Amino acid sequence: MGEIRQGSTRQFSVMELNRWITMQAENQQMRFFLSCRICRQNRISCVFQCGHLTCRSCSEPLVNCSICGTPITDRYSIYLHPP
Ligand SMILES: [Zn+2]
Ligand SMILES: [Zn+2]
Repeated sequence: MGEIRQGSTRQFSVMELNRWITMQAENQQMRFFLSCRICRQNRISCVFQCGHLTCRSCSEPLVNCSICGTPITDRYSIYLHPP
């Protein structure tokens, strides 16, 4: 029984490692998606009516969406919790 437990423990830890690697990749993707598309530095905090997202400092001078060019008529603040 001891050997079977050791074997299953080893299998479980490999599964955990794979899950951890997948999580890291998802976190990096999330960090990319949550960063401003214009300055690539700040976290997004505004969304326009076209659906594009920027940080607050990039959104303020914009008249047209810099991503799709749609005139900005509505902008909403979004609040993201830190990871
Ligand atoms: Zn920005
Ligand atoms: Zn847009």
